[in-house]
Amino acid sequence: KAGTIAENIESLLVEKGMTEDVQVIKTGCFGFCEKGPIVKIVPDNTFYVEVKPEDAARIVEEDLIKGEKIETLLFRDPVTKKRVEDSDHMDFYKKQQRIALRNCGLIDPENIDEYFGNRGYQALGKVLTEMSQQEVIDEMKLSGLRGRGGGGFPTGLKWQFALNNAADQKYVVCNADEGDPGAFMDRSILEGDAHSVIEAMAICGYATGATKGLVYIRAEYPLAINRLKKAMAQAKEYGMLGDNILNSGFNFDIEIKYGAGAFVCGEETALIHSMEGERGEPTSKPPFPAESGYWGKPTNVNNVETLANIPEIILNGGQWYKGIGTEKSSGTKVFALAGKINNVGLVEVPMGTTLREVIFEIGGGIRNGKKFKAVQTGGPSGGCLTEKDLDVKIDFDSLTAIGSMMGSGGMIVLDEDDCMVAVSKFYLEFTVEESCGKCTPCRIGNKRLLEMLEKITKGNGTMKDLELLKELSETIKDTSLCGLGQTAPNPVLSTLNNFWDEYVAHVKDKR
Ligand code: SF4
Repeated sequence: KAGTIAENIESLLVEKGMTEDVQVIKTGCFGFCEKGPIVKIVPDNTFYVEVKPEDAARIVEEDLIKGEKIETLLFRDPVTKKRVEDSDHMDFYKKQQRIALRNCGLIDPENIDEYFGNRGYQALGKVLTEMSQQEVIDEMKLSGLRGRGGGGFPTGLKWQFALNNAADQKYVVCNADEGDPGAFMDRSILEGDAHSVIEAMAICGYATGATKGLVYIRAEYPLAINRLKKAMAQAKEYGMLGDNILNSGFNFDIEIKYGAGAFVCGEETALIHSMEGERGEPTSKPPFPAESGYWGKPTNVNNVETLANIPEIILNGGQWYKGIGTEKSSGTKVFALAGKINNVGLVEVPMGTTLREVIFEIGGGIRNGKKFKAVQTGGPSGGCLTEKDLDVKIDFDSLTAIGSMMGSGGMIVLDEDDCMVAVSKFYLEFTVEESCGKCTPCRIGNKRLLEMLEKITKGNGTMKDLELLKELSETIKDTSLCGLGQTAPNPVLSTLNNFWDEYVAHVKDKR
C-alpha cells in the first residue's frame, strides 16, 4: 500500500509540473507501525497517518499546493483525542532519542547519496585517517556501549579481545538472526538504514584486524536482505567496501549468510556453527569466539542494533554516548512495543526511561481503556513485570534485578483480560519448539514444564504441581548449557511470583 501511495503522489507531481519543488522519498520504517502507512511532509514535519492510496490527490492538492493541513489524516492522540499536527509534538516521538534509528524514516535506504548526506561513512573515514586500532577500541570502551542482542557485554572489551588474539585471518559477524516473538528492531534497521551497519562492520574490522565480515540473517527477512545487498553493492561502488578503502590500505568485504529461523542460532556459538554448515547448536564457552570462532579464527560478533550505534559514537565521541542513559547502561535502547497497547511500534529511548513512560506516554496507554496488567520484557527469556515495577528505570541491571531482562528489546503489554498462566504456557511452547535438544535439562525439562502447564490450564493441576513447577524451573535454569535453556523458565517463575493467585485459581485442590 505504501508503495502505491508514493507512486500516486509521484505521478500527480509530474502531472502538475511540481517535481522540481517536491521530492517523494521512500524511507524505511518511521517506527509508528500502529498508524501506517505514514506520509510525512518535511520540513514542517506534518504527520499523516493511516493514509490510503486514494488520499494522494488530497495530499497534493490541499497540503502541497494550498498549504492546508488535512484534518482527517492527522494523528489523534489516544488519550486526549486531540489532533496532533506534526511529529515534533507527538508523545510517541517527544521522549524518544533516535541514535540507532537515526536514519530510519528519514533517508531512502536504497540511495547511498542520502546516507552520505547524513554524515554517512564519515566515521569510517575518521578511523581510517585519524585513529589507531587501539584508539578506536578505547573510544568504544569509553562510550560504555553494551551488546544490544540481550547479553549486555561491553562492546569495547569484546573488540579488545578480538584485537589481542593474533591470527592470519579474523572475522566480524553481524548477528541479524533476531528470533524473539514480537521483536523487529534489527529487521527495521536493516530495512531502513543498512549502510550504518555496513559502516560499523568496517570500523570494527579495522579496529580488530579483520578483513572479512559476515552478516548472519534469517531468510524470512527478504526486504532487509534485499536492501542490505543493494547497500553492499553501492558501498563497493563508492569504495567503502573492498580493497584499499579510502586509499588507506585497509581491505574489508562482507558476505551474507542465511539462517533458517532457529531461535537458538541467535546464540553466538550456535550462529557460528550454522554459518559453517553445521547444526546450529551452542557449545560451551570458553573458548569464546574472540579467540576461536568462525573456522577456528578470532571472530567478533555484534548484533545489528549494537552496530548501528557505532558510527555516531565515533563521530560524537565515547564521552557523548556515555552521557546518555544510566551509569552502567549508557546510550539508548530500541524496543518493539506490542500487545494491548495503543501505539504499537518501534521506539528508541535513553536507558533510564521508566516502563511507565514507555507504556503510557510513548505507547499511549492500554487499548480500549482497559487496565494494565503486566509487561513482558526480554521475550521468551524474560519475565512479566507488573504495576509495582512501572517506575523502574529501564537498564540492563535494573530489569534483571526485578526478575526480567532487557533481552533484545521485545516489550509485550498485557491487559486485565489476559490469563498469565496462558501467557507463560505460550512462551514455554515457543522455547520447547526452539530447543536444539543438545542438553537434557532443556530438552526434557522444558517439555515436562509445558506438560504441567497444560495440565494446570485444563483445570487438572494440583497445588503440588505448582510447587513442582517452581522446583523444576530452578533446576533447568541452573543446569542448561546455553542461554535459551537457562532463561526458558523465566516467564514461568516471574508469573508464579507475581500472579500466584491466578495459578491457584486454576488448580483442583485450592487451599
Ligand atoms: Fe540446546 Fe536448550 Fe541445551 Fe541450549 S539449553 S544447548 S538450546 S538443549
